[in-house]
Amino acid sequence: MDKSVKDTILNIMKSTTDIAIIGGGLTGSLMAMAAANNGFSVSIIDATGAKKRKDPDFDGRSYAMAMSSGRMLKALGLWGDLETGAQPIHDIKVTDGAVGEQPSPFFLHFDKYGLDEGPMGHMIEDRHLRSTIQRRLLDTKNITYLGGRRVDNQTTQTTTSMVTLDDGGQVHARLVICADGRNSPSAKRAGVTYTGWNYSQSALVCALEHEYSHNGFAYQHFMPPGPLAILPLKDNRCSIVWTETAENARSIMAMNKGAYLDVLRPRFGDFLGEIKLVGERFFYPLDMSIANSFIAERIAVIGDAAHGMHPIAGQGLNAGMRDIAALAQLCQEAKDRGEDFGSQAVLARYQEWRRFDATALTLTVDALNRLFSNDNSILRNLRTIGMGVVNLLPSIKRTFIREAAGVRGNLPDLMR
Ligand SMILES: Cc1cc2nc3c(=O)[nH]c(=O)nc-3n(C[C@H](O)[C@H](O)[C@H](O)COP(=O)(O)OP(=O)(O)OC[C@H]3O[C@@H](n4cnc5c(N)ncnc54)[C@H](O)[C@@H]3O)c2cc1C
Repeated sequence: MDKSVKDTILNIMKSTTDIAIIGGGLTGSLMAMAAANNGFSVSIIDATGAKKRKDPDFDGRSYAMAMSSGRMLKALGLWGDLETGAQPIHDIKVTDGAVGEQPSPFFLHFDKYGLDEGPMGHMIEDRHLRSTIQRRLLDTKNITYLGGRRVDNQTTQTTTSMVTLDDGGQVHARLVICADGRNSPSAKRAGVTYTGWNYSQSALVCALEHEYSHNGFAYQHFMPPGPLAILPLKDNRCSIVWTETAENARSIMAMNKGAYLDVLRPRFGDFLGEIKLVGERFFYPLDMSIANSFIAERIAVIGDAAHGMHPIAGQGLNAGMRDIAALAQLCQEAKDRGEDFGSQAVLARYQEWRRFDATALTLTVDALNRLFSNDNSILRNLRTIGMGVVNLLPSIKRTFIREAAGVRGNLPDLMR
């Protein structure tokens, strides 16, 4: 090819933006919207691509979105499209048990009366959340969506960073945000190290239709191999997150639908009447990874790239949304003051705001999983007594409920 033609093409492929986001999962996409709402120009590069994201069978999860995350979806103008499909969570019941056994006599009950502001959260199906965000992402003027492309490298100069794509394209930005998931390759390239481990557990996820109404109750049954969460969806349906040892999970996943339900029934119980599968079944190997730093030069790390946690408490995405709200606010405040929003000083504020909280949450979730995912009789007795005691102490229970709703602590403006 003629050199001048080649240079022209390469120049077209170079772009300059305020913020470049690596990874267009839920966290990266919501970050793009929050930053664009604050007037920043944003380029988001996502290896997965828009076509796959629109496929309803791409991801079977449903998310327990805390009250504070719901506020943020409202502030970003997304709630109107999500509300009809969102199921309010009114109560949470926690039990300790074993397959085929009655639940423990002392169950822990977080009820709707623990919060004055409304339901503690909503269940939102991934397919609804994903398609709503994707539509808005493509419609927002100051967002450039580069789907189906991977970031191969990034380098930082004094005032900008340059992100290089696998098709040779380049994006120059004042701030690069790594949202490329657990053990983020882009954060590692910038020198961030991780602490983490594999759980010898995997999560089986599917949606079920059931005979009786769930009345907006979410259930968490702690079983020796791992927890079984039964989470209410609209129209007499629920989503389950069923944790088993990695080996068991693989063999259950390989079963046909009838055999799968036969294994599930004694764990699930019959309190919702007959159950049947709706849609596909999904499988997620579980691990934990925490970034030892949430920042590097001109780089902020958010979402699972910063803290990949066990789904036992349904907090991963909620924690990622707190990262987004905090970072968007700090960048906005810096810009208003005429400060460089990608500078080390601004990034240090982000790290100070989020790192301790997110790390503490990830480790607490890890400890919960260890405490509950076993059949040790001493631990079983202790946790039964513990749940009974918490159940009898309204002030502690209220603290737990407010924590689950995400309305404790120093909340960013988008979550107020
Ligand atoms: C079974 C299960 C149930 C869960 N339930 C809940 C719940 O109820 N509530 C809750 O709050 N959380 C829940 N979570 C956690 C939640 O799903 C995650 O926290 C969230 O999806 C993480 O999103 P993310 O965008 O940070 O990362 P990811 O979803 O991993 O997205 C990373 C993106 O980066 C892209 N990417 C990777 N490399 C590159 C590259 N080089 N260039 C460009 N793009 C790249 C990928 O294509 C991907 O799109 C659950 C998790 C599991 C496993």
